[in-house]
This record gives sequence, structure tokens and C-alpha cells, in this order.
Amino acid sequence: MPFAVLVPLLAGGARCEAGDTSAGGSAASPAGLYGEPEVMEFKDGKRGAFTLRFDDSMVSQADVALPHLNARGLVGTFFVNPELDRHKARIDTWEVMCPKFGHELANHTLHHEGAKTYEEAEHEIGECSRYIWKLYPERSRLLPFARGGGTTWDIGDDEMRELTSRYFLFRHRPAHSVCDDPDNEYYSSEDTDLRHLPRRAIDERIWLEVLFHGIGGEWISCSEASFVGLVDFLAENRDKLWVATTGDAWKYQQEYQALSGVALTAPSEEGFRIAVECDESKLDTYGLPLTELYDQPLTVRVPVPQSWSHFTVVQGRGKEALADSYETIEVGGQRIAQFDLRPNGPAAVARAESE
Ligand SMILES: [Zn+2]
Repeated sequence: MPFAVLVPLLAGGARCEAGDTSAGGSAASPAGLYGEPEVMEFKDGKRGAFTLRFDDSMVSQADVALPHLNARGLVGTFFVNPELDRHKARIDTWEVMCPKFGHELANHTLHHEGAKTYEEAEHEIGECSRYIWKLYPERSRLLPFARGGGTTWDIGDDEMRELTSRYFLFRHRPAHSVCDDPDNEYYSSEDTDLRHLPRRAIDERIWLEVLFHGIGGEWISCSEASFVGLVDFLAENRDKLWVATTGDAWKYQQEYQALSGVALTAPSEEGFRIAVECDESKLDTYGLPLTELYDQPLTVRVPVPQSWSHFTVVQGRGKEALADSYETIEVGGQRIAQFDLRPNGPAAVARAESE
């Protein structure tokens, strides 16, 4: 395959050495060892993304849906109303189980009742964000937001925008969502085969989200058997489909759409340095540095010599470092290093591990 032209070597450790010519006739220098880096549209180079959204802090979500997700190592996003009695009735689920199993809590306001004044709106929205931030001290404060179907907010659009901005909230739009579909067959107590939804995400290479209310009970309910059929399919197809929280899928999509470049520098026999950049002006950074809220790593692929098998990638240092070891994969006969990088962070160092 033709080797891509690499960006000019940067100062700081970049060295030109006589290269190993065994990788091919054109590999006269270490630069020729590595092909053009590519940022993948979905995490781990998967073919699509799928998010499971659950609204209203419902008891059947805690009692029925969550155990099925946990048993399969799948994650969901729960739009909670922390001040409602039904939320308090399953407090351990929301406050202990959800953080422990990697689920996401999203801001659905304290009471799901709207607001008559700005002060009320500020309380309903702000306190819900603070409640979630406290449970996830290590996570980005960026949260999905939905103000509740059927609620009335007697405040201006500017005031609502000011509040969503102050509390780092986003209203998302997956490439395709079946939330609003009037015929959405998953709102049915009858058993229904829902596997065509993730199949569609895979076939069309999109991010698709489904919105649930009750699972096997309560209201706008989907039967437990229908739900199990869906999550079984997701677990069986996890190599093709990225089942993510809404926040992670959204951050990945936003960062990917704002990509401005990938720089592979300082190539040598041992490895290379690499950085991914997003254009800040293409993202809503809420007035903060981009990396403060957009911490979702992007998956990068770099063609490497056939001799590579295991490798490490370290980005940054200390508590904030992203460090992992990987095994190379083969794509179309080419050996590929596939790994995660945080955009706009320090350049990462990728190193082949000697056998
Ligand atoms: Zn709701």
C-alpha cells in the first residue's frame, strides 16, 4: 500500500535515522514505517453506535432493566428526577449501582414539573446537575438534558439557554432516533422483536438511540421479553456496535465532527508520537478549554510494520494520563495499531513492545 506523507517532524525528540528497509521498497526512512493515521467514526472502529435511554426515574427501570444491562456488561443513560418519590424509592440503584456499573445519569430536572419563574427553573435544573456531579466526581460535568415531556416553562428562550450553558447541558440529536416515532413498536406490552433497531445502526453506520419508559410494567411500557431480546442482540454484537452512554456517544460525535487534524511525528523503529486536534470553534465549549468537558477518547488507526504485535500508548502523565496496552489487528492484510487518544491533549507516545 502507498505510505501517506507524514506531517513535518516537530521539534522535541524527532530524529531522522536510517530506516529498516524490510517493510517495503519505499521505506527508506523510519517515516516510511507508518501509514496515514485515521480517526474512526465510531469508537474501536465499530460500525455504529447504540444508546439506551430511560426517562423519569422509573421503578421498573431500576428493578427490571438495570439488572439485565449489568448482567451483560451494557450501559444505559437514565434521565432522572431526583426529588420524586419513585426516585427515592430506588435510591441505592441511582446513587450506588449506576456509578458502579458505568451507567450515566442525565438531567431531567428535580420534579418533572416545569417552572413558573426563572428562580424555580434555576433550582429545578441546577440542583439536578449538582446532584449528578456529586455522584460522578471523576466525570466530565457535561450532561444530557431533557426538560420533561408535557411540562411548561414560563421563562424566555434566552433564560433557558443561559441555564443550559451555566450547567453544561446539551440537548442531543443522534443521527437517528426512534424516540418520537408515533408507531414506535417498543411501547407495547406485547412481545416484539426489536433487533431490527441495532441491525439498522450497523447496516446504515449510524448512531441510533431508543427511549424507554416502563420495562415490563408501569407506563408507556415495553415488555420484559422484548427488552431482553434487544439487549441479548446488543451483547452478541458488541464487536460491531458501540453500546455507549448518551453522553459518551454525543461527545465522540461532536469531537469527530470538529476534527481538524492528526499528526504522527517522531517516527522511529520503536514507535511514534501522535496527537489529534479538534477545531474549538466547531464545538460548544461553554466558555471553558475544550478538554475540560470533552474528554471522550477518539479511536485512531495507524498502519504499522508486520512485526508489531503488542504496543503501549501513553498520553499525558500523572492522574490525568491515558495509558493502555494493546494488541495490533489486521485489516485487509495490513497490520494496524488501533488505540484511543484524547483530542487536544498532549501528544501521546506509541511504542512497540518487544517480545
Ligand atoms: Zn420525562
